[in-house]
Amino acid sequence: MASEHLDLVIRNGLLVTASETFPADLLIRAGKIHALGRGIRADGAAEIDARGLLVMPGGIDSHVHLQYPQGRHRVVSSDDWLTGTVAAAHGGTTTVIDFVEARPDQTWMQAFEVRLAEAASQAVIDYAFHMAFNRVDERSLGEVQSVVEAGISSFKIYMAYEGIRLEDDGILRALEQLKVHGALPLVHAENHALIRYLTQRHRAVGHTQVRWHPHVHPAAGEAEATYRILTLAAQLDIPVHIAHVSAAQVLDVMRMFRANGQPVSGEVCPQHLLLTEALYDQPDEVAVRYVMAPPLRSAADNAALWQALQEGLLDCVVTDHCPFTLAQKQGRRRTAEFRRLPDGGVQTMEPEAPWAEHPLAFDQVPGGAPGIETRLPLLYHYGVRTGRLSLTQFVECTSTAVARRFGLYPRKGSLMPGADADLVLFDPGHTVTLSATTLHQNCDYTPFEGWTVTGWPCMVLSRGEIIVRDGQFLGRPGRGEYLKRAPDALAARS
Ligand SMILES: [Zn+2]
Repeated sequence: MASEHLDLVIRNGLLVTASETFPADLLIRAGKIHALGRGIRADGAAEIDARGLLVMPGGIDSHVHLQYPQGRHRVVSSDDWLTGTVAAAHGGTTTVIDFVEARPDQTWMQAFEVRLAEAASQAVIDYAFHMAFNRVDERSLGEVQSVVEAGISSFKIYMAYEGIRLEDDGILRALEQLKVHGALPLVHAENHALIRYLTQRHRAVGHTQVRWHPHVHPAAGEAEATYRILTLAAQLDIPVHIAHVSAAQVLDVMRMFRANGQPVSGEVCPQHLLLTEALYDQPDEVAVRYVMAPPLRSAADNAALWQALQEGLLDCVVTDHCPFTLAQKQGRRRTAEFRRLPDGGVQTMEPEAPWAEHPLAFDQVPGGAPGIETRLPLLYHYGVRTGRLSLTQFVECTSTAVARRFGLYPRKGSLMPGADADLVLFDPGHTVTLSATTLHQNCDYTPFEGWTVTGWPCMVLSRGEIIVRDGQFLGRPGRGEYLKRAPDALAARS
């Protein structure tokens, strides 16, 4: 595109980084930030007037599941690499980190090549991967080095979920190998035995409704698993990043280990900051929308998570975007029945026979919810506008800290000269009522339906190219690039 070659200057905006806010112009050359300053001269450059707008590094969402075949039913998340990254761009996110989860018949590197090919033809923004450490054997331990060399410097460890979880002895061997290669463990911390026991006990007495879902994922099980992974990691002296922290009890555990010198960081999702378990007490066809793990918890947990974000115990706000349409959530389809195209059109997909009895029992509902598009606006409205977060903290937890944590800084997450010109021009006065019908996520519901937020991205640039302007998508499928991430992202530990 011409815009990759033409200089572009963004004038009169309020620049916001993780450390300061200052009025300045910003000059983009060859897709990179070239200079910042007042009254920059740029003869022949295209100009954008950003008066009244915040100019920030593009959002980075390090926890998304696009085109993801989940669980033994292999129900595929409803956003593919095109629809999901288009939605991300509309919401001000310019980099995503997704997952590679190898099947038993694939090596990790084979699974990576498949994911890379899926993304390469479709993604409209830049992307990277975490590798799921889903088995511990000679083959997988021997592959860690090539995976890290391929640019995947973080590994997901599941402490729960049949088929992908590791037992403690496996976790120790995995951590040992990650330490050798300077890679970061990203941990789904829940007590597997407790989930299985409670599920069986509830099912045995006929508790099949979705309202039982949070009862089998107690906060105590999340706190116990967090305590255990941090105990193991402390023995090996390796940092840990805890995925989607949902409960005050988990924060207490993290605080205790951090006070003892163990490097631990964590991420939180908007749904766990803003929604509560009361939403499960509705008819199943509505309550299925909120089936996710960890589940929604109490208002007291919401408040504790905000507090942890303010104090920096939690450093990243991510989405765990894993959308399924209501037909999928209710067990009527394995794949989405429609596909929203970037030009606003909708493609209707093949009919499918129902794959199970429905409504599904709570433990059969595909887990996850959409959120890739609403992260920045929700956090701005409920974080910045309420005074819980400063503007710099907002940029820190939605972009800069994520880039640092996962080895993308300063190429991403900064406004430094030389960084990629991934930028959000954010209109702090623009009010939007959230609705699945106007969002671009490939899903027929949003957990935030009808919520009104003030503050919205009005222009989004990726490597200097304007990809969203006033709600219109201007990018093209496949323009996103794979980002190799540096190992030893741990050097950035706080
Ligand atoms: Zn996830």
